[in-house]
Amino acid sequence: MKYISTRGCSPKLAFSEVLLGGLAPDGGLYLPEHYPKFTNDELNKMRGMTYQDLAFCIFEKFIDDIPSNDLKEIVNKTYSADIFSFAREEQKAEDITPTLKLKNNLFLLSLSNGPTLAFKDIAMQFLGNIFEYVLEKKGKTLNILGATSGDTGPAAEYAMKGKKGIKVFMLSPHGTMSPFQAAQMYSLQDSNILNIAIKGVFDDCQDIVKAVLNDLEFKDLYKIGAVNSINWGRILAQIVYYFKGYFDVTSKNSEKVDFTVPTGNFGNICAGHVARMMGLPINHLVVATNENDVLDEFFNTGNYSPRSSKETFQTSSPSMDISKASNFERFIFDLLGRNSTSLKEHWKKIDDGKSFKLSEENFKKIKDYGFVSSSSKHTNRMDSIRSLYNEVGVIIDTHTADGIKAAMDHSAPSNPMIVLETALPIKFEKSVFEAIGVYPKRPDSLKDLELLDQKFEVFENSVESVKKCIIDNR
Ligand SMILES: *Cc1c(COP(=O)(O)O)cnc(C)c1O
Repeated sequence: MKYISTRGCSPKLAFSEVLLGGLAPDGGLYLPEHYPKFTNDELNKMRGMTYQDLAFCIFEKFIDDIPSNDLKEIVNKTYSADIFSFAREEQKAEDITPTLKLKNNLFLLSLSNGPTLAFKDIAMQFLGNIFEYVLEKKGKTLNILGATSGDTGPAAEYAMKGKKGIKVFMLSPHGTMSPFQAAQMYSLQDSNILNIAIKGVFDDCQDIVKAVLNDLEFKDLYKIGAVNSINWGRILAQIVYYFKGYFDVTSKNSEKVDFTVPTGNFGNICAGHVARMMGLPINHLVVATNENDVLDEFFNTGNYSPRSSKETFQTSSPSMDISKASNFERFIFDLLGRNSTSLKEHWKKIDDGKSFKLSEENFKKIKDYGFVSSSSKHTNRMDSIRSLYNEVGVIIDTHTADGIKAAMDHSAPSNPMIVLETALPIKFEKSVFEAIGVYPKRPDSLKDLELLDQKFEVFENSVESVKKCIIDNR
């Protein structure tokens, strides 16, 4: 399997090269040159598999430059019940992403039982192990530079801590993360993790990262890498749980299901799209947004009009406060029949800070791909958390609540609807308290998280000081 760029002007690469690469040299995103398709017989075999076997069976179709035995070892090491240990009492941690029946034909797919309590652990834990493996084979090292507003940073650091050949430089806005999120990252004492608190907001951190990555000479010389959501390895890891969820709620392959996905950068739901292209019987993929509803607008009108950070609202589902979805190019590439020329025409407008509108003909095609969408507001989130708690006694977080609202808008009584749980409620406990007047129970191991010693350095909002820090600490 080789990988091609959506913009059509980059060399075809093997998996390991795409893994460490980030953006393609022509500015596009890498995708497999075709989607492998599972037959009905293969799906039947996969139905009874453990999460680990399922992951291996799917990864094997996309990775042909790592020996099977090594890949299997990496998968087994990554997806263990010890690491994904925060399952609810009524669930089994061994399932890694267990499902929970909420009510008739409405299910929760728990993706947030990993060390940082958000679904990003599923992909990051895999990246940590496969990065370490590939770097060792190639005799290389990597300095990962990232910016976080709260969820990506902890997931990346827990996945990379203690890994050979890898250093992490993570920028965060000084003093604006929740105490829980700050404690998650800053309490890590590993020597290969550097927390840099920037006197500024998240966008300032993001701008510094972009400036460093755009300095190609510096990037090359100091081996700077990224783990942002455009990384193909992250999408790949996320395909697995769509299969797991499907097999959990169906008994034969003639049954179709719907998935609802709380969406920001379009990474998670892009994996759902790939799963569907691989033959998983998915009827609808429901895009759930919050007040930052650029994608909802697109799926309803065909008009894609990204907004600036000034036009982006701060909401109670903060990890979805995104107005330009970095993985969206992958889906549009497929929608345009994988025509790079046409993709480039569309993206020229986006890169110039403008918008595009799909032709009537292309807009109709969205239906063929199963996409529908909905947005929600703060009051919807509060209502969803409250009604689920009152009706079935299950507490969900604010992002998953955006999903529940969208699922209600689109669920058909005859189809199972699976809502992806993208974070555990303890991560956003203030908003949960606002909705139901009760704080979600913390596992014992996290009770005193905020009291642990913290390690971070405060920096001025300056590209040069971050570069100097990388040079001094690499
Ligand atoms: C990152 C994140 C999202 C958005 O996921 P995308 O892959 O960017 O669409 C949703 N919910 C939570 C809790 C997140 O951390």
